[in-house]
Amino acid sequence: MVQKTNRIQEVVSVRARKPIVAGNWKMNKSIEEAIDLASSIKIDLATCVAVDVVLCPPFTALKVVGDILTGTHMQLGAQTMHWENSGAYTGEISPGMLRDIFCHYVIIGHSERRAYFHESNKVINRKIKAALASALRPILCVGETHEEHEDGKTEAIVRTQLKQGLAGLDEDIMQNVIIAYEPVWAIGTGLTATPEQAQQVHAFIRDNIASQFTDAVAKSIRIQYGGSVKPNNARELFSQPDIDGGLIGGAALDARSFIEIVNAAL
Ligand code: PEP
Repeated sequence: MVQKTNRIQEVVSVRARKPIVAGNWKMNKSIEEAIDLASSIKIDLATCVAVDVVLCPPFTALKVVGDILTGTHMQLGAQTMHWENSGAYTGEISPGMLRDIFCHYVIIGHSERRAYFHESNKVINRKIKAALASALRPILCVGETHEEHEDGKTEAIVRTQLKQGLAGLDEDIMQNVIIAYEPVWAIGTGLTATPEQAQQVHAFIRDNIASQFTDAVAKSIRIQYGGSVKPNNARELFSQPDIDGGLIGGAALDARSFIEIVNAAL
């Protein structure tokens, strides 16, 4: 009987996680194109409350896209940031600057930042802490490369990324953190983890969060899947019990595809 009650509570709290779908536009879209894309998405999703919808344009388009999103339920996110709030860091953008233009989310530790800009788990941890200190919600990206996948190292890699990336965080603040599991071999390649493969790693991530923090944090934290999510595979991925939406790259550059993906999370 006790077991049954626990299971019911678990299902209720699993359902209580609101899906979150974020579009990572990467280094794409002129100001004019960004206005067009955000405006088209807004027509369908302005009033969407069942899914948190986040648009992450490049820095140059953050302000105009933010203006378009004003008054809607959609929110603005950045693709990276520095950990300091000001200073001699040529080319960087600070958490305070992102707050200044009403950004609510920031992607941290995307595999492209790890690979091309050598962001270590230690740097990522500083950024996560700085984002939270500025009331930004970090989307922490974790995931293994093709080689690590082939070598059966997925769990070891993801465990380290979580342990070091989230080191020193208080359990109370964890409600503002989102995790994105993005197998690097699936990003922009057209290869997607099968729903079962993705679910297995998401469950592993949730277990690790329970060990690193508490069961309550693990049950409430939202874990997105990212890696070649398209309108034709989104529904099956999002229907897995531990997948709470997606971080979308290529398909987020087309309004119709992105809207269909958000609808698949409903
Ligand atoms: C990404 O870069 O976060 C991503 C998931 O890209 P894509 O959807 O194009 O694989």
